[in-house]
Amino acid sequence: MSQYWSKVVHSLTPYVPGEQPKLPNLVKLNTNESPYGPSRRVLDALRAEVGDTLRLYPDPGSDKLRAAIAKRHGVAPDEVFVGNGSDEVLAHVFMGLLKHDAPVLFPDITYSFYPVYCGLYGIAFEPVPLNGQFEIAVDDYLQPDRQRNGGIIFPNPNAPTGQFVPLREIERLLQANANSVVVIDEAYVDFGGESCVPLIKKYPQLLVTHTLSKSRALAGLRVGYATGNADLIEALNRVKDSFNSYPLDRFAQAGATAAMEDEDYFQAMCRKVISTKARLSADLQAIGFEVLPSAANFIFTRFPGSDGAYIAAKLRERSIIVRHFKNPARISPFMRITIGTDEQCAGLVDALREIVKFNKIK
Ligand SMILES: *Cc1c(COP(=O)(O)O)cnc(C)c1O
Repeated sequence: MSQYWSKVVHSLTPYVPGEQPKLPNLVKLNTNESPYGPSRRVLDALRAEVGDTLRLYPDPGSDKLRAAIAKRHGVAPDEVFVGNGSDEVLAHVFMGLLKHDAPVLFPDITYSFYPVYCGLYGIAFEPVPLNGQFEIAVDDYLQPDRQRNGGIIFPNPNAPTGQFVPLREIERLLQANANSVVVIDEAYVDFGGESCVPLIKKYPQLLVTHTLSKSRALAGLRVGYATGNADLIEALNRVKDSFNSYPLDRFAQAGATAAMEDEDYFQAMCRKVISTKARLSADLQAIGFEVLPSAANFIFTRFPGSDGAYIAAKLRERSIIVRHFKNPARISPFMRITIGTDEQCAGLVDALREIVKFNKIK
């Protein structure tokens, strides 16, 4: 606390990212990064950027990258916005599209950055509880008292639960909610979901966000993007150009473009993660864990009668790091475990087998 702080800084409750411990030999299954490196084509593109041109500013519009993203998704370049990680894209979305008089709706259990942006920008929000199966139920967003909203946002699949809302349900939401923006955060869609990007042609209020941090193994490069009707994209450009004209440096633009163009590598890595996930889920169920259905690159799991923090601490003693959440209380029994390599997941199952066998779990 300091007298020099602005009023808004005094009121902030910042987001706390999963830890990035600097310990050797850690099995890191806590922040949903890819266990595999990026495509070789990305590394080549990054090396090619090292040179004298670094004295020049990058392209402020990231035109090549936006063209590659547009091509990959079958949309127009003016239907694409890019940012320094999808977190930055989301920040501009809250500022430019979700800050209205009525509250923004999002699930009570979801990506915990959403309420943080609301705090930063002074946006009212109303958490909508997940149903008893930890699912997003579209009908809950269509209640009469929620019809006047400042917008709706949720990840699909949701985080940290991994559960997926089918496209016909998203479409039902869009049909009933035409007067405010609906943002679908598809950070994890490549691991078993179905993207609703094609729906942007039909619904001018739909914005879909993506990140290269998970399925394209580029969390260290910081690139994310949004697709939507050109009018929505223009709002984001207006915010961006009132904040930072060059959010993506030369490396980010070159590396991300190469990543978007290497469809084969991308598909192969997603397939590997999906098959490891199926094996891990089956192995955990075989030793008594309950695993929610997951369309993401992580699973949400609990051992009946035990506490997520307790098991996570025991895993940590064995140098395996996973994530757990104290709030709200109904998710405190769970752990969110990122899908690692087959070898890492086999080690995890061995460790959990010992933990539930040799420790009295209340
Ligand atoms: C990881 C994640 C993001 C942020 O991704 P970055 O591009 O790394 O900023 C956004 N939304 C959800 C739901 C995520 O899990």
